[in-house]
Amino acid sequence: MKTDKSKQLFQKAKHVIPGGVNSPVRAFRNVDGEPFFVNRAKGCRIEDVDGNELIDYVGTWGPAILGHAPECVTEAVTKAAAAGVSFGIPNPYEVEMAELIVDWVPSVEKVRMVNSGTEATMSAIRLARGFTGRDKVVKFVGCYHGHVDSLLVAAGSGALTHGKPDSAGVPAGFAAETITLPYNNLEMLREVFEKWGDEIAAVIVESYPANAGLIFPVEGFLRGLRELTSEYGSVFIFDEVMTGFRVAKGGVQELEGLIPDLTAMGKVIGGGLPVGAFGGKAEIMDYLAPDGPVYQAGTLSGNPLAMAAGLAQLREMERVDGYARLEQLGARLEQGVRALLAEKGLDYRFNRVGSMFCLFFTGEEIVDLDSVMTADKAAFRSFFTSMLEQGVYMAPSPYETGFISVAHGELEIDRTLEAMAASLANV
Ligand SMILES: *Cc1c(COP(=O)(O)O)cnc(C)c1O
Repeated sequence: MKTDKSKQLFQKAKHVIPGGVNSPVRAFRNVDGEPFFVNRAKGCRIEDVDGNELIDYVGTWGPAILGHAPECVTEAVTKAAAAGVSFGIPNPYEVEMAELIVDWVPSVEKVRMVNSGTEATMSAIRLARGFTGRDKVVKFVGCYHGHVDSLLVAAGSGALTHGKPDSAGVPAGFAAETITLPYNNLEMLREVFEKWGDEIAAVIVESYPANAGLIFPVEGFLRGLRELTSEYGSVFIFDEVMTGFRVAKGGVQELEGLIPDLTAMGKVIGGGLPVGAFGGKAEIMDYLAPDGPVYQAGTLSGNPLAMAAGLAQLREMERVDGYARLEQLGARLEQGVRALLAEKGLDYRFNRVGSMFCLFFTGEEIVDLDSVMTADKAAFRSFFTSMLEQGVYMAPSPYETGFISVAHGELEIDRTLEAMAASLANV
């Protein structure tokens, strides 16, 4: 794979951007590599500045559920832009978007738009604290909720892969208000509630943790969270930034038949533009300014371009029955991967829900971060590099989830499986 131009750009970038990137995982540190720079992306393919064309399973880390630059989105954005790129005054798109979210997401009665997933979880935490008059928050090891101070306590993904469970710059006093527990361990959560139950404002959990591979809740875990938070009057926050509008119209809460108090959303909802949202019970949401005492605001929140892009993407997903299509493609990939692993006698785990998947380079049962960390990093690195050489771009870290888009086809899935067959031979 030619990399001259990317290498040049990365050298320049490192002089003026910390680490040469605007988000750490893009630096390819986990694969001992350097990033390639992208010129254009269309459908399931991206083309870098050196002219390499790659089948993409990162999908801009989740948002590109229809593939890159779908016409419905580019047209909607162009049309909206011609009418004005930002008003700072309410616009009709915001109402349409809120109605769609309330319609699709089972637990959401009212919703507020923000500009990123981080803002969504940050605001949901503040709202939960304001609503309950309590300070403590419970989160789970390996769950990533964006770079919110009080949630960067033993977080996954970027923080995890850089070998620093905590970030410098987070005051010890903030971290002290966060109780971090192993995922899938209801017993420990029960103990924590027995001890501090009346101080806990919220429990936040990734609906299906997807920033440390892809972990599934054990039977009864989510139900237990719901029951314990109800019993102690804590707010149950479901972080569906990754899974919302991705695994189903209504996210994991639809699949699991679960009603959280607040839900954080992002990624797919913005159609590739910077969008997040948080919503839930009206009784709680009404604590937000201007009706209530919890302050939250945003100059560009509900931006017309972003709303138009998100609405176009979500409506198109519904129109083409995108979720059913993604299940077909996901099942095809899963079958192929399982056959390959069996054929090669590799005892690796493969987790999938709809269009989200992760191949773990370990035979350990995947239940929490500890089990995820048993993955063979060297084997992953060689797999990643070999896949890239064959024109398939998987996330550059063993702790990331892969995404299939509606723009992928049987042809690309089969080509990917061929590349995997060759790449797994090398590990
Ligand atoms: C990506 C992600 C976030 C943060 O969203 P940003 O838009 O990157 O700030 C929060 N929670 C989950 C589950 C995510 O996957």
